[in-house]
Amino acid sequence: MAKLSDPITVLKGVGPARAAQFAQLGIFTLEDLICHFPRAYEDRTKLLTVSQLQVDEPACFAATVMNTPRTNHIRKGLDITKVQVADHTGKVNLTFFNQKFTTDQLRYGERYIFYGSLSGDFMGYGITSPSFESPDSPPRVTRRIVPLYPLTAGISNAVMSKTVDMALALCPPPEEILPEDIRREFGILPAQEAYRAIHHPETLAQAELAKKRLIFEEFFIFSAGLSLMRAQRTLKKCPPYENTDLAPFFAALPFTLTGAQQRAMADIQRDLSRGTPMNRLVQGDVGSGKTMVAAAAAYLSIQNGHQAALMAPTEILAEQHAASLGKLFAPMGISVQLLTGSMKAGEKKQARQAIADGSAQLIVGTHALLTDTTVFADLGLVIADEQHRFGVAQRGKLSAKGSDPHLLVMSATPIPRTLALLMYGDLEVSVINELPPGRQQTQTFLVGENMRARINAFIRKQAAEGHQCFVVCPAVEENQETGLKAATVWAETLQRTVFPDLKIALLHGQMKGAEKEAVMNGFARGEADVLVATTVIEVGVDVPNATLMVIEDADRFGLSQLHQLRGRVGRGSAQSYCILTTRNRNADTVARLKAFCQTTDGFKIAEEDLRLRGPGDFFGSRQSGLPAFRVASLSCDMQTLTLAQQASAAWIDLHGADDTPQAQALRERIGKLFRRGGAVMN
Ligand code: ADP
Ligand code: MG
Repeated sequence: MAKLSDPITVLKGVGPARAAQFAQLGIFTLEDLICHFPRAYEDRTKLLTVSQLQVDEPACFAATVMNTPRTNHIRKGLDITKVQVADHTGKVNLTFFNQKFTTDQLRYGERYIFYGSLSGDFMGYGITSPSFESPDSPPRVTRRIVPLYPLTAGISNAVMSKTVDMALALCPPPEEILPEDIRREFGILPAQEAYRAIHHPETLAQAELAKKRLIFEEFFIFSAGLSLMRAQRTLKKCPPYENTDLAPFFAALPFTLTGAQQRAMADIQRDLSRGTPMNRLVQGDVGSGKTMVAAAAAYLSIQNGHQAALMAPTEILAEQHAASLGKLFAPMGISVQLLTGSMKAGEKKQARQAIADGSAQLIVGTHALLTDTTVFADLGLVIADEQHRFGVAQRGKLSAKGSDPHLLVMSATPIPRTLALLMYGDLEVSVINELPPGRQQTQTFLVGENMRARINAFIRKQAAEGHQCFVVCPAVEENQETGLKAATVWAETLQRTVFPDLKIALLHGQMKGAEKEAVMNGFARGEADVLVATTVIEVGVDVPNATLMVIEDADRFGLSQLHQLRGRVGRGSAQSYCILTTRNRNADTVARLKAFCQTTDGFKIAEEDLRLRGPGDFFGSRQSGLPAFRVASLSCDMQTLTLAQQASAAWIDLHGADDTPQAQALRERIGKLFRRGGAVMN
């Protein structure tokens, strides 16, 4: 017997080269393999005779090879193998492309089980590239429900399936951690059964049940972890802030706060005077004025004699925050200190000195602030801007820094309330659902390819007025299969054939960090008229001069993502526009995009997105700051998630601190789940 933690190289036939391929999928151990779940299934249980085969209706059939397979080398890279097979009802011709290696296994006079579908042309009917295996071998590619796995170069579905099976045979799947009464109450399969059935379902219904169990399990573990974190935090004590008068701060603002901003600030005031560390998430759409809420929190911390740190996801954002907050706080005699990796050594040293001796009161930097050697005199409050890059993992790291500082997390990603409860179970949530008055709403339009000339003319018009424009493409490189617009190619096309006189810049995720930053900085300084980019610009700098966003193949993006992208414009005083292009004529798709054009309310859009696509997408994205969920890619439903959360909250309340083997096993799995996202649980 092997252990779950053993490397996959303990399996027969898995050497270093194979292991490197599996590593591409994040598979290193037997457990990773057993938890590499199928993304879909193909029902290959139907068995027909040759005469019963129908065009385009794939099925299995047993047939005997009637001649020796003949392979013709047509040209370089194209071999065609033909063979005829038959049963007592008829015969059928099989054609294989570039599969000589496979077809060498077909022996004249032998019987095999095939799986494929009939197709026909003027040359007659036949089957192209059917799967096949010997009737004596255990069913793998025929006569069963075949699991379809996420794959990578060099690993075929057959190889994946076989390797997973070897792991299952060698090693028991993860042990049961769900209490039996909960399993019974929610009709949840036992662990052993679920792990086997997810890879080897006997029916599609059984696969569904297995999936439900695994989603339930992962969410049970996840929310149990959040509940534990929350419970631990409420046990911690810190001196309550006594000086909570915000009036002098309000007096210094050049505008009146919105009601929503005031409510969030009141929440924070209450948290800070409670005597336990604050742990709050402020959610508000782009431009809703979260920075002011953060500033108010920092003000309170500083008035009570403690430092505050504001962490931004990028250096550019940190610089912007330091500049604007410096201006705000200077008249109040509060010192703001920037600390970023790219500052000169001497400047950094000086900054660190000021942070260590306490003369720096508000410190603004990137996440590096947390990890590097910076020593704070007395860190009372940590503010993390953009929750999406600041997840559970980093939240854990925090308590290590300073003595349990208050934590305020800001997110510009509106998340439906139901999901927020699940995702931020350890946080209190304030919502800023109101924009400051007098904002110009970005006008959004949906257009087809026939409008291309007008889009180009519009880009030119914006540029002529001295404004800048984003063009977002769904892909980085050209791909024949998807036919999606690729940023690299499109940037070149625009530059060469459409706007030779304008300056076009390119930005995508495959570029190096420094290179990306340089391009983005240059664009922010106005050095390019048009920035062609992939979704890497979703979280980025403020370019108030950008007034137009064109999103190519907009149907390829989720509504929430479109909303994030659109938030890149409309940040200055000029009217801004967002143009969605699509070549998709599907009525539902068009209706969805049209609805998006009608509203700029991020929460409404997020609710709609959740309704249309399910919660999977909210968890799937690597930048969510959440642990790497294994079942996220399995489409999951809100109901299972909510049930799992309720069940785990109730269980933790009763048994969270137990010393039973079950409670210990659960705590161990919690640690594992959070570590997998690069997380540290404290
Ligand atoms: P976000 O929520 O996206 O972080 P910001 O805090 O950057 O938004 O605010 C966007 C802009 O709105 C800033 O220029 C800020 O000064 C301004 N602002 C914030 N609150 C108000 C308000 N109550 N009235 C008018 N302008 C405001
Ligand atoms: Mg902001």
